[in-house]
Amino acid sequence: MPDIAANLAQVQQRVAAACDRAGRSPDEVQIIAVGKKFTADVIREAADCGLTVFGENRVQEAKAKIPDCPGHIRWHFIGNLQKNKCRDAVGLFEMLHAVDSLPLAAELNKRCEQAAKTMPVLLEVNVSGEGSKHGFTTETAVEAMEAFFDFPQLELHGLMTMAPFTRSPESARPFFQKLRAVKTDCESKLGAPLPELSMGMSGDYEIAIEEGATMVRLGTCLFGPRAMANKD
Ligand SMILES: *Cc1c(COP(=O)(O)O)cnc(C)c1O
Repeated sequence: MPDIAANLAQVQQRVAAACDRAGRSPDEVQIIAVGKKFTADVIREAADCGLTVFGENRVQEAKAKIPDCPGHIRWHFIGNLQKNKCRDAVGLFEMLHAVDSLPLAAELNKRCEQAAKTMPVLLEVNVSGEGSKHGFTTETAVEAMEAFFDFPQLELHGLMTMAPFTRSPESARPFFQKLRAVKTDCESKLGAPLPELSMGMSGDYEIAIEEGATMVRLGTCLFGPRAMANKD
């Protein structure tokens, strides 16, 4: 069992320090504990340490695990969704972080309508332009804003990104700045605020917080390394 209490204490200290550098309050930053590939026992231990919001990136894994986890946990889906998983995702999660296309949004809207639910969502933006990454481009994200008026079951809460993996966290900073700039553009197109910026992972969350992250998605720094066979 990883020493989650010790890991969390260190993370909280670093979150507080990053907030301090940026003149922000730690209350503005939600830790999403990414327990993917870890068992319900490990999740329960993390919940006992006071973590309340957990992220998963595979619907099948979450569907199997969630019933064995403490009932007060709030689940966010942080991975890319396939259309045939939307119905399950709508039932299991209270926020979807990585809506990466309008056809997916349309399918989610339909599934939410059938379930009589509204779903908070974030749009994934591919700020690096890397072909391996999902999401709207910085331009199509702004264009997509208007389409959301056609999806009354989806509440657009903000944007999400994954910075390219590098050895130096500092090199992620321009990508986080870019996401914040896209948020500003989207807000003026929408004529409404988008409160959430989901950016920053174990390797770069302090930089993300300095650049305005409201949600950091943390796996390795809380739970330790995941099994290599299935790295995602
Ligand atoms: C796995 C995952 C994370 C957490 O990654 P760590 O580097 O272990 O903190 C964050 N975001 C997404 C989308 C993920 O799939």
